[in-house]
Amino acid sequence: AAALDPRTRALTEEREVLGPAYRLFYRKPVHLVTGRGSHLWDADGVEYLDVYNNVASVGHCHPRVVEALSKQAASLNTHTRYLHENVLRYAEDILSTMPDELDRVMFQCTGSEANDLAVRVAQAYTGGEGVIVTAEAYHGNSDLTSKLSPALGTAQTLGLTMRMIPTPDTYRVAIDGRPAAACSPEEFGAWMAGEVRRAVADMERHGIRFAALLADSIFSSDGVYPDPVGYLKPVIDAVHELGGVWIADEVQPGFTRTGDSFWGFGRQGIVPDLVTSGKPMANGLPTSMMAARHEVLEPFASSIPYFNTFGGNPVCMAAAQAVLDVMRDEDTMGNAKRVGAIFRQAVSGLMDAHPCIGDVRGAGLYIGCEIVKPGTKEPDQATALDILETLRSHRILTSVCGRYGNILKLRPPLVFSESDVDWFMDGFSATLKELGL
Ligand code: PMP
Repeated sequence: AAALDPRTRALTEEREVLGPAYRLFYRKPVHLVTGRGSHLWDADGVEYLDVYNNVASVGHCHPRVVEALSKQAASLNTHTRYLHENVLRYAEDILSTMPDELDRVMFQCTGSEANDLAVRVAQAYTGGEGVIVTAEAYHGNSDLTSKLSPALGTAQTLGLTMRMIPTPDTYRVAIDGRPAAACSPEEFGAWMAGEVRRAVADMERHGIRFAALLADSIFSSDGVYPDPVGYLKPVIDAVHELGGVWIADEVQPGFTRTGDSFWGFGRQGIVPDLVTSGKPMANGLPTSMMAARHEVLEPFASSIPYFNTFGGNPVCMAAAQAVLDVMRDEDTMGNAKRVGAIFRQAVSGLMDAHPCIGDVRGAGLYIGCEIVKPGTKEPDQATALDILETLRSHRILTSVCGRYGNILKLRPPLVFSESDVDWFMDGFSATLKELGL
């Protein structure tokens, strides 16, 4: 802390009041005060490139979102037991982005609450309790969802009715001795479906009835595995055959992020039974949702009342509506596809000269970049963390994900531009050179 300027040091120390579970990014924490698009400024006026924040989905402080929420805040904000056009208009609009089967939506404030509700809905519908997640999944911080989040580490108690299946790791998994990358989507999907069957068989041995697979179609906290397109179809078919439902956790891949479709599941060509989202919905206002097929929702909704004080309030709905309007008007999906492809190609282009980059994969503006010991697939978290810190010194903010924390997670606001890619590439090349990688 000695190297920190007095103001940063004071703020860092004052954070102790928040308790030790709160973790800051970076050895030298960043104190941000303003944002615009994919750029951020700290308290000294230093400009940073944001290659991390999916919450500011349409860009930091987008003027249309700011205007919409300010206008609504100036007329009314109240809880959700009165009629209000904002919530109904948005409900219809967001459902219009989904397949017809998904025809009901309920609002909450966080992704955790949305997943928590979805699991309860799935359990009421199936009469089961068992939930399957992937080995490094993160689904939330409530009691229920933290027990379904192995990414929280070994100190977190996992649910007794939860079963884990392996991460669909196309970089490391071998199927019958063949690397996953050489398998067809059907073969890779059949392998994963087999893991689901095995997990359900284990539940049954313990007297647990299967309720749901809770999974994100880009497997973000697992380490970003969006391909090969089509591999989730056999998995979801198996889930249905076994009497369960699929809860698509769209907190990460949804809202045009993958560039191919509004929803991550759309890219995979499959229709979920329940869909959850949160982070990117309202550009930073706490807003989340659970969408459902009406027949799946029915057993829960007709017997248990649901009240969420802030979920779907007029201000959050005004912000969410503005985000959706901006996504359409500014074609964030097209931008994610176009700039994402340029970005991924540029990062891949460094692989030959820098053997510490083992794999580059992703969809749209969601890229995972594996940092490994050269010539091997051995994860190198220490180097990944050095890269993060050095990128920070080049005023580039990003993070890591995956079991070993060695995968750079490149996930900027959806308005990331080609010149932003250039800034990142200059800083990344310089970082690799400085670290002698
Ligand atoms: N699901 C996924 C896939 C997430 O990434 C997160 C947040 N990182 C959540 C759920 C939980 O969302 P929240 O923090 O809004 O509760």
